[in-house]
Amino acid sequence: MSTIHRGVALVTGASSGIGRATATALAKAGYRVFGASRRPSLDGLAGVTMLPCDVTDDASVSRLVAEVVGEAGRVDLLINNAGIGLLGGAEESSIAQAQRLFDINVFGVMRVTNAVLPIMRRQGSGRIVNMSSVLGLIPAPFNALYAATKHAIEGYSESLDHELRAQGIRVVLVEPAYTRTSFEDNLVKPDQTLDIYDAGRASLSVVMRKAMETGDMPEIVAEAVLKAATAVRPRHRYPAGKMAGQVSFLRRFVPESAFDKSLRKQNGLPA
Ligand code: NDP
Repeated sequence: MSTIHRGVALVTGASSGIGRATATALAKAGYRVFGASRRPSLDGLAGVTMLPCDVTDDASVSRLVAEVVGEAGRVDLLINNAGIGLLGGAEESSIAQAQRLFDINVFGVMRVTNAVLPIMRRQGSGRIVNMSSVLGLIPAPFNALYAATKHAIEGYSESLDHELRAQGIRVVLVEPAYTRTSFEDNLVKPDQTLDIYDAGRASLSVVMRKAMETGDMPEIVAEAVLKAATAVRPRHRYPAGKMAGQVSFLRRFVPESAFDKSLRKQNGLPA
């Protein structure tokens, strides 16, 4: 591990997948890294101090940030990465289930951000990298609730960045496409399934599994995070990997009707 010269980083969801790869990459790049998750694994991540935190719990988030500041005195970089998916028809989830998903993927990000901002404001500097997704840019059938959480993160992050820039703090987004992690194993199932959606849900599940099998390694996303974290003049968004770059480009430049047609085809839906 290189010497610590870049400052103090906090990564949520660091026990697995993208968060784990990111925490490792940041430590290698010279950050002092604190990682957090509900079940912080004890099989030591080189150069990373793992702490317990549930991002849906105000007190747990306050404890986490107090512990990091108690040990390291500051927070230069926050990576809001903890998140989960949900595969099912939008109508197949109760509002309570949708709220639980938002509580992790959206309010979890806001909770940790609000806990860290007073420290960054005091420092007069800081960088926040929020883990979005290509589903923060485009729709995805049977992923409506998940896509809604990531679209919310996009609007939140870009707006917040404008509020904070004058205080030396920047907020940026990383947008991965399919990435080989435990994401699929951890997908939440809808809590009020309807027969009418069985075939579509099953077919989308196959599309997703196949795409995941050939998806990017989490280290590709970690590289994008490192870029987003260290750019002197950061962009708002960093698509991670080839597919995400293509999706982001197509979304911006392909006419809506053509995009709609292609999206249905990709997802095995009738024209
Ligand atoms: P993983 O399931 O491998 O990792 C999810 C991480 O989040 C784990 O460390 C988990 O740890 C943590 N986590 C889940 N719930 C909570 C909670 N309530 N409080 C604290 N930590 C929590 O998935 P990925 O690495 O793939 O996902 C990371 C991020 O990347 C997510 O935001 C996801 O939406 C995004 N993403 C993933 C893509 C993919 O294809 N994999 C594509 C695009 C975006 P623990 O269970 O110990 O709490």
